[in-house]
Amino acid sequence: MPVRMSNSDEWPLAEVVSKKEISDGVWEFYVHYIDYNKRLDEWVSVDRLNLDKLQPPKIEEKKKSATSSQSQSLSKNQSKQNLSKNQQQSLSQPPATPNSPDVEPVNGTMVRNKSSNNLFSRKRKGAPIDEIDSQDSPKPPTTEEKTNNLRSGGSMTTHGHDDVVTRVKNIEWIELGKHRIKPWYFSPYPIELTKVPCIYICEFCLKYVKSLACLQRHRDKCCLFHPPGNEIYRKDKLSFFEIDGRKHKAYSQNLCLLAKLFLDHKTLYYDTDPFLFYVMTEFDSEGLHIVGYFSKEKESSEDYNVACILTLPSYQRMGYGKLLIEFSYELSKFEGKTGHPEKPLSDLGLLSYRSYWSQTILEILLQLKCEEGTTPSLTINEICEMTSIRKEDVISTLQHLNLLQYYKGQYVICITKDILDSHAKSMKKRKIRIDPKCLHWQPKDWAKRGKW
Ligand SMILES: [Zn+2]
Repeated sequence: MPVRMSNSDEWPLAEVVSKKEISDGVWEFYVHYIDYNKRLDEWVSVDRLNLDKLQPPKIEEKKKSATSSQSQSLSKNQSKQNLSKNQQQSLSQPPATPNSPDVEPVNGTMVRNKSSNNLFSRKRKGAPIDEIDSQDSPKPPTTEEKTNNLRSGGSMTTHGHDDVVTRVKNIEWIELGKHRIKPWYFSPYPIELTKVPCIYICEFCLKYVKSLACLQRHRDKCCLFHPPGNEIYRKDKLSFFEIDGRKHKAYSQNLCLLAKLFLDHKTLYYDTDPFLFYVMTEFDSEGLHIVGYFSKEKESSEDYNVACILTLPSYQRMGYGKLLIEFSYELSKFEGKTGHPEKPLSDLGLLSYRSYWSQTILEILLQLKCEEGTTPSLTINEICEMTSIRKEDVISTLQHLNLLQYYKGQYVICITKDILDSHAKSMKKRKIRIDPKCLHWQPKDWAKRGKW
């Protein structure tokens, strides 16, 4: 049925996921707006439901993939309700949400408000923005995966866990360091913490407690001012810590719980042993504050160099996501192999990767030098070796940028002025870069070590 969205006059179609009685006979309903990201799911009172247009659930559609059912129901309903062009437009546009910032200042500290339209407008509809590889679509769990949760600690997979419990956001707010953040998705924190208005997380060890007083007591005992593990990179204010999921199990589990609040398709389990976690921090006089992280399997049979990747909402849209990606490829270069992120990527993740691949490949092409009178040439394999980006991703990026032209019986790369201009513009925004000279790290051959 159509449901009125918070702080807006829009009535997009929504599906009721759950309900609760808040007082005698007064109910609230948890709704998912069809064709909108689950970030916008919310509890609504009955006056926001348009019960006149209630439709029974369509069982047949449910069976199909979420993707196709989402787009189908939208087009069906568009014709049903004979929406005007403007209305159709507004369905795909996010509502203004000035009164519900995702990130709020704590103690008067100003924090960027991340509930920009841009963020919400990224729908999870249809295929990823660019078809990287048809084999990349989510695979159903194998029997082994269903029964054995091993080796899924940090990885994101779309399967399973789409039951009613995990579809309902369970944490109201979190406070992490100077930031108060509204979670986007469900995360399996202990049930008693789902009943408090805000959970307080120690920004250094990531331990979670139910009140500010508890956090203060914890801070008296907790002596960390940075993540555990080894600091393997430092330049200016930026550091990276490598954390072994076996040696620092509590931290790794806490990190997974925190990350799940902002990653929709991440199946989280408690066996973190097979993973390494790379946490990026920013330094100030109070410590080294977590900005984001990625996890990586110690041994990956499919050459994944990233399992999960996340920039915390308080630091999004500032270029940190690309730094995390750049760092993951820098590690692959040290290992002397190509790598790629585990699929599926989140909507925001895919955008960052697509942009990183484009910028990296264009940067290399533009640096090509040649003797006068000759044409510079470069093979795809050489691009892979120089960047550690795997072949499929290089090819799909060249295609996406429309750089390949067939000319006189062979493929040539043709870079137009438009591409050059937009590349120059986007590179200007990438002020901070990873400096390989500041990485102090030796890859380990985990297969030879016998155990993780
Ligand atoms: Zn702590």
